[in-house]
Amino acid sequence: MRLIDGKAIAAAIEVGLGDGWQSGPPVLAVLTTAEDEASRWYLRSIQRAARRVGIVVRVETLEGADGPAIADRLDALSADPGVHAIICETPLPGGVALAEVGAHIAPGKDVDGANPVSLGRLAAGLPAFAPATAAAVLEILRSEKVPLEGAMAVVVGRSVVVGKPVALLLLAENATVTLCHSRTIGLADVCAQADVLVVAAGRPGLIGAEYIKAGAVVIDVGTNPGPGGKLVGDVDMAGASAAAALTPVPGGVGQVTTMVLMRHVAQAAARCLP
Ligand code: NAP
Repeated sequence: MRLIDGKAIAAAIEVGLGDGWQSGPPVLAVLTTAEDEASRWYLRSIQRAARRVGIVVRVETLEGADGPAIADRLDALSADPGVHAIICETPLPGGVALAEVGAHIAPGKDVDGANPVSLGRLAAGLPAFAPATAAAVLEILRSEKVPLEGAMAVVVGRSVVVGKPVALLLLAENATVTLCHSRTIGLADVCAQADVLVVAAGRPGLIGAEYIKAGAVVIDVGTNPGPGGKLVGDVDMAGASAAAALTPVPGGVGQVTTMVLMRHVAQAAARCLP
């Protein structure tokens, strides 16, 4: 089993972005309401990547804001010609759904696919920004030259930020897609049919040897706190020896996600949706 090098894939995207900006640097607004360590870590990784490619990050902090206040701020950023791209960090304050406030991000600036209109356009086969994590999964499969047309693809997890958009993107590549969730019966048997297995359940070690077909390509999106403060995925690496290739956690999908987000920002600034 080969480990897929997310860092190398991210570096290749970075090279493609590094030609300088003809009409000034793109500006990404990051609206944050959270004070937790995971959001701070994500923000820092966005800032690091942005610095490397010359994108300006404007952090908008709205601590303790409610849904209407977040929506108002996103409306204002959407109308601001000096802002090319917008993301709204999660978790949001209690009771506020990302899909509700995300509807206030103009689709042309919605670089992390938070507006339900973006997901709807994706489903309709229209140009739209997919959530960066979902787009990163496809970027990895493309970069690894994994044949998708006619392939059996199984996605575990049906969230609007990962599972559903990954399934739509795989379908658009003519894979035969099965979308699984916590009520799926016989999950191991379903997964064991997959040529391409994408796991985004947030359950450490959920996917063991009996879930993986020999020669399958396995993309582990899960990021879970593991022993000793380490990050672990949803796939039990020790049980994945039959796979042809696997994305490690850390060092796989996460690395690619941040750079895909930067590419989305560049596309938003150039007013060209993917
Ligand atoms: P989420 O909203 O909690 O969704 C989890 C999904 O997994 C749900 O659809 C749930 O089913 C399903 N699920 C949970 N337990 C399951 C089980 N035992 N068997 C089958 N399905 C199960 O999580 P998310 O936001 O999609 O994130 C998923 C994981 O990806 C998390 O670990 C998260 O940290 C990680 N993530 C990583 C990145 C990155 O860049 N690497 C980005 C985003 C998220 P139900 O719908 O039936 O509840």
